[in-house]
Amino acid sequence: MRWVRFWDPEENRGRYGWVHEGRVGRVHGSPWDEFEREEARWPLEEVRLLAPVTPSKIVCVGRNYAAHAAEHGAEVPTTPLIFLKPPSAVIGPGEAIVLPPQSQQVEHEAELAVVIGRRARWVRADQAWEVVWGYTVANDVTARDLQRRDGQWTRAKGFDTFAPLGPWVDTDFDPTDAAVMARVNGEERQLGFTREMVFPIPQLIAYITSVMTLLPGDVILTGTPAGVGPLRPGDVVEVEVEGLGVLRNPVRAETRGV
Ligand code: ZN
Repeated sequence: MRWVRFWDPEENRGRYGWVHEGRVGRVHGSPWDEFEREEARWPLEEVRLLAPVTPSKIVCVGRNYAAHAAEHGAEVPTTPLIFLKPPSAVIGPGEAIVLPPQSQQVEHEAELAVVIGRRARWVRADQAWEVVWGYTVANDVTARDLQRRDGQWTRAKGFDTFAPLGPWVDTDFDPTDAAVMARVNGEERQLGFTREMVFPIPQLIAYITSVMTLLPGDVILTGTPAGVGPLRPGDVVEVEVEGLGVLRNPVRAETRGV
């Protein structure tokens, strides 16, 4: 099943929905508990999709593809390298990525995102799939110059709009060997395969939940393949995970604070 959050045009509010044969219908209840579906009646291209989840936190994994670590001259870590993005950075499909005036080098990072469906702590790798609700597409937008300058990554990764997610959460997707791609203005920039992850998803879940409790709706960004590159005002960036979906966002400059 493919879950979305969308702007209900009759009730004028954001809500969960489901996608069926190119149409969206309301869902009542909780995606992680009891729920009921209404008929899918709005054409997908006519509804405004929101980010498909509202996470309490976004846990990201750095250098989880060897080819991407190499393009920055970095070693592949011996344990997962994790960091956080704030929930305030989340935007949905079609929303603009805003380039902040503090950075001259904002880059895209195409990533597969894991969405958690159960409260999870000390989960063993061999039981990790049980806490996964589904998968979505993410862009781990990064101010590369600030990442280098600051030595830690909160500012570089944490600007508003730096966590595009969507277009939906697919609960049936097989994440083990999918192509992960980025295109800017239709031109291919990144290509890798999820089988190339240094630490596969079960190990990531075990590692992260040995540190912190994951809650339903929390998101893990599983790292980016090689080919990251700059975004400029007027660009349109697409991240695609093969068989899962395409996340498309325009890019614009910040007009305040400058
Ligand atoms: Zn990343």
